[in-house]
Amino acid sequence: MSLRELLNDVSDIIFPPQCLACVEIINQPAKQVFCSTCQEKISFITDNFCPICGVPFLVCPAGTHICGNCLVNKPYYTQARAVAGFETVIMDAIHKFKYGRNVSTGNSLGLFMANFSFPDFNFSEYSLLIPVPLHIKRLRDRGFNQSLLLAKEIGEKYNLPVKFSLLKRSKFTLTQTGLNKAEREKNIKGAFVVANREKVKGENIILIDDVYTTGATVNECAKVLLKAGAQKVSVLTLSRVTQKQA
Ligand SMILES: [Zn+2]
Ligand SMILES: [Zn+2]
Repeated sequence: MSLRELLNDVSDIIFPPQCLACVEIINQPAKQVFCSTCQEKISFITDNFCPICGVPFLVCPAGTHICGNCLVNKPYYTQARAVAGFETVIMDAIHKFKYGRNVSTGNSLGLFMANFSFPDFNFSEYSLLIPVPLHIKRLRDRGFNQSLLLAKEIGEKYNLPVKFSLLKRSKFTLTQTGLNKAEREKNIKGAFVVANREKVKGENIILIDDVYTTGATVNECAKVLLKAGAQKVSVLTLSRVTQKQA
């Protein structure tokens, strides 16, 4: 047993783990971060999605197909995958984590993300992880980068280095909330710079973020990384807004 596991066991006795979305105490804490009632409400994205952006399809009679958005505007990234829809339980947990400045919730959500079996994602094709960076101003307000906490757990599970200083946010952007896809793309354009092109060259990169909304942010990150010489960029997020596509 590692020191970390031992400390976790001891703290489980003193502070029994609470479900990340409600007040329920979890009886079987091994790898569980939600109580069973909340766990059942989560809509995991396991099949019937666009092979590029990962948007779930409501009905899929013709089997897997590329969605309308990706057909018209092919993203820079290769694949985007999310654990679950951004709704109910997951939404509550992310809010608690981001705005409640709760680092331990972040670590648990990272573990939850790392333990999810992304159905068609091959981690062995990738060489490093980059969390989507926050602008220094927002980082100071929040106290931590939520994407970095998620990336750390995935890096540990898949033995991939987390390079949080390779990509920087050079422009302070207003919140993307309330903007449509085109407005988001315009708002985020030019917001990121690669800090060290040499370290990006030829790499197969996984970008990590908490929520995929329209994909404007991660697509902009993928664009600058590819321009800097990265070979391939894909995206993993904890959750995604699921405007279901026909
Ligand atoms: Zn619960
Ligand atoms: Zn798509």
